[in-house]
Amino acid sequence: MKVTMKAIVPHAFGDHQQCQHHKLNWCEYIKNPDQYRHKDLPNGKDLQGESLKSVLTNLFNVYASDLVVKKLVSNASSQINESWHSTVGSKAPKIRFYGGSESSDQRVAAAVAQTNLGKQYLLDTLRCLNVEPGNITEKNILSLDKDREDEKHRKSSVKFKKERRQNYTKKKARNKSDVNKEGVTYQSGVALTLDPQLLQRAIVAKEKLKEFEKDVQRKTPKVVHYV
Ligand SMILES: [Zn+2]
Repeated sequence: MKVTMKAIVPHAFGDHQQCQHHKLNWCEYIKNPDQYRHKDLPNGKDLQGESLKSVLTNLFNVYASDLVVKKLVSNASSQINESWHSTVGSKAPKIRFYGGSESSDQRVAAAVAQTNLGKQYLLDTLRCLNVEPGNITEKNILSLDKDREDEKHRKSSVKFKKERRQNYTKKKARNKSDVNKEGVTYQSGVALTLDPQLLQRAIVAKEKLKEFEKDVQRKTPKVVHYV
């Protein structure tokens, strides 16, 4: 998993050496380099800009730390790689849409953290950073609550329970490792204290976000052949 997380940022910037080296199966580029377009990045292009790259690298280092990886690996399932992949994809365009709004860096960090670790993590992080929760953060927390409520509802449905039972049986048969025998695939409110220094480095200044927007690649114009 650490390998995957380390490969995500270079991948988004068009550097697939690590994807290749580790034969990462979610990287479609290495399967078909000529046809490949990023599904979730602006205009399907690689991301650009050294400052954006370094910011994202710092952010992902937070989540690729041994501590976080250990937590995540106990949730081991094939879905995690996919989910991480789509999380990066979906967050990158959001840098555009929310650019200039307050705490959009936290927005990104919180969204990712929430996906894996639940709401408790967000609060820990904010406290860690000495951040006064702003409007957006507050809204985020409300929507987290709603998501949670929905999730609870979903999990109590007969359909969900049936699927869960089936998945559990499949998983047990597939993987006999001790971790998976536990059968714990999701736990909300897993408290986790992160290295504040790592977090500090992952913070982005408001003005920087504007800069990133300038680096978004335009659509390639259609080439017209005159005969
Ligand atoms: Zn790749």
